[in-house]
Order: sequence, then structure tokens, then C-alpha cells
Amino acid sequence: MKRTTESVAQCEAMYSVWVVHGTDHSKIAENALELAFFGAANGLEGGKVVTRGKKVLLKPNAGFMGEPGSAVATNPEVLRGAIRFFKKAQASEVVMGEGAITGVDTLESLERSGLLKVAREEGIEVLDMDAFPPVWVPVPGPLIIDSVAVSSCVGDFDLVVSIPVMKTHMYTGATLSVKNLKGCLPRREKIRMHQLMEAKDALPEPERGPAAEGMRQSGQAVGLGEDQTHTGDETYHTLDKAIADIFSAFRGLVPTFALVDGTFGMEGFGPGGGSPVRMDTVIASHNLLAADFVAASLMGFEPAEIPHLTLCAEKGLGPPNVGCCEVWPSDWMRLGRRFTRATPDLMGQVYPGVTIIADQACSGCSSTVVSFLRSYLPKERNENLVIAVGRGAGDHPGCEKAVMIGNCTAKAYKCGKGRAFVKGCPPVPSRVLAAVSTCLSPQETE
Ligand code: SF4
Repeated sequence: MKRTTESVAQCEAMYSVWVVHGTDHSKIAENALELAFFGAANGLEGGKVVTRGKKVLLKPNAGFMGEPGSAVATNPEVLRGAIRFFKKAQASEVVMGEGAITGVDTLESLERSGLLKVAREEGIEVLDMDAFPPVWVPVPGPLIIDSVAVSSCVGDFDLVVSIPVMKTHMYTGATLSVKNLKGCLPRREKIRMHQLMEAKDALPEPERGPAAEGMRQSGQAVGLGEDQTHTGDETYHTLDKAIADIFSAFRGLVPTFALVDGTFGMEGFGPGGGSPVRMDTVIASHNLLAADFVAASLMGFEPAEIPHLTLCAEKGLGPPNVGCCEVWPSDWMRLGRRFTRATPDLMGQVYPGVTIIADQACSGCSSTVVSFLRSYLPKERNENLVIAVGRGAGDHPGCEKAVMIGNCTAKAYKCGKGRAFVKGCPPVPSRVLAAVSTCLSPQETE
């Protein structure tokens, strides 16, 4: 995506973004932060952004369990660079905090990713943000939620540094620094964000009938739509709107900064089941949306492919597009490459005989399905397999034959839907295998 003279003329302001490349991942993270906070060309008259005496929360992405180098979680060396920078910049406190997705133990995930080890080595405190009571934060100019519950520890800090992995995402196109803020929400609130309905469509719980426009993906075009239950504005999903609202709420709560970890990005079935892509790059900006626009461009995305970024721009939370970003170095696009998308088509190509019914599922069960298919199911012998995930899946035709996955489908299963039920929130893939094995013939699963 190139910045043209015309597009610059339309910018009310320019947003500074730094892209730093190198194989020493701790060093490039530190360098990017030095440039952003103290560099001569930081667009903020270096020194105005004071780090001395500030309490800094480093928020990596360890929502899913993954080893270093797998791109599932933030590279621990990037965290190390951030810790070293803020200590050198005389922050009064540097703390790492995370709240994993439902079904994943945060500290276990931090341990697996190597982030906990680095935090210990560098001598900083670690918070499981789920252990704190929530506070309700109002959303200015709400698109779908008036307020959002955030872990109360967030308000104790002067700066939150979002350190996501540069990943594709099966529901939101990509997950970057804006979406990474969702890790600061309590578990129940994370789930709520995946089960939102448009106000005009939502009925009181006892009266709510089958989702009128719920998503059923099957056969060649398997998909894992989670929140596409609304009937009004078809351009944006409820989750996209919720992410933009969460970012608005954060802007009123605490200053934020983006350090996007593109050392190892993830392409394909992100955010939990994709493949690592070595990029050796980090992206830093005082504006999360600006950093995300630049990261998305490096991944080969057009803005329309990541709707929550467009919505954030429409809400005035940063630049309207990447053309309003002043990026250093000027030839930054040479560092990019096109990431394989987490599209339904991709899944359909790999597993042509599988039908997936998904309605109001979150990334937990969806990633379980991807992991199960990748780990256990032979690609050639998967006919007749129907999998259902999400609270609304039981309302869809065809779910009678489905293996119902996750606690959200329990009610439908009790009402006679599905051939088998797999308990868990989310269940582990091996349990899915056990259930599938009882439903398919031996030839189909061997
Ligand atoms: S059961 Fe699955 S879809 Fe439902 S909240 Fe848990 S992980 Fe998400």
C-alpha cells in the first residue's frame, strides 16, 4: 500500500510508525522503543513523552498455548527488549500482564511461551489479569456496547504497551495491537464479546428464537463464523464493532502504545492453528491503529480485510488509513510479504468433506476444531463428518448429525441435537477425536 501525495493531503494529522528489522529480536524491540520515545524524528518532540517514573504494563499475547518460535504467543525476546528499554528509561514499575482465552490457564500459557522465564530473568512482576475484579469502563460513541468490563489492574498503570504477534485471524482478518487489548478483559467479558447481537435483533433471553441469519458453513466452504447473527448492517460483524468499542474505552482509561511482534508472524489458520512466518521485524507507534495499519500492509492486507481497523478509523481513533502514517524507514514495504489468509476456502480446500456449523462460537472452540482436523483427521477420509460449535449452532439445519463441540452446545445436545457431545470450554482436540471415532466408521477415522 503506497502513500500518495493525494492521500497525504487528506490527512488531518500524520502518525509516526517505526519499523525495525534484524535477527537480534531483543535488540530490535529495544531499538524500536528508543526511536519512538526518544528519537529525533518521533513526531512528538522527543522528551515530551516521558517514561521516567511511569508505571508500565506490558501486555503480550499468550492467549493460546504455544512454544517460542511457533508464533502462537509473543516472542519472549521481544518482551525482553521492551523490559530493558522501560527500565533504562527509568519507568518506576514494569509489569507483564495477560489474560488468556477461556479454557487456557494464563500462567501455564506464559510458561509454555517462554514469556514467564524472561520476565523472571529480567526481574519483573507478572499478573494474571483474570485474578482482578472487573471495572466497567464507558465506551464513547458506542457501536454495539455502551461499556466494557476491564480487569481493574489496568487502571493502576500510566501506560499499557500492547505487544501482539502479527497474526491472521479466522474471524477478524488479522489480530494486532488493537485486538490484543481484549486480553485485558475478564474471561466472561471475552465470551460476551463473541456472543453479542445487534440490539434491534436481540430478544430477552427466554424469548430468543433461532438466529435469523446465523451462519452455517458446509462442504467445500467450511467456515467458522462466530458472531454473524445480526440482520442489519452486513458490512461489519458484531465482534468487529466490539473491538472498536473496546479500543475507544481504553483511550479514555489509560495511554496505550503498540509494539507489534513481527519476528515470527502467523499465517493460515490463525490465531491458534496457523503456521509461523519468520519476518524478523517489529513495529512501534504511539497510536495502536497506525501500528496496525502498517503491520497489516506488511502482511499484504487491504484495509477492508480487517474491518475492525476500518471501524476504529471511522471512530477517529487514529489515522484514516496507512497513507496518513509517516513510516520509518521509507522503504519499509520491502520487509513485507503476503500472508496466507485464514479463510473458509482454505479450510474447505484442505478438508473438502467436512461440514462445520458455527454460530456464536469463539476462537477457543474454533481453534480446537482446527487443531483436531490438523492433528487427527486424514484429509482423504472425512466424508460425513459434521461438527457444530457455538451457542447458536443447535438452531441450524443439519446439526442433528453433528458432533457438538464445547459447553455452548450442551443445551442443544440435551434437546436432542447432535450425535455426540464433547464437553469443555474449549475441549481438547483428543476428546473431539474420541467423540468423532464413535460417530464415523473405522475406515473413516483410521
Ligand atoms: S464452549 Fe467453546 S465457543 Fe463456547 S465459550 Fe467455551 S470456548 Fe467459546
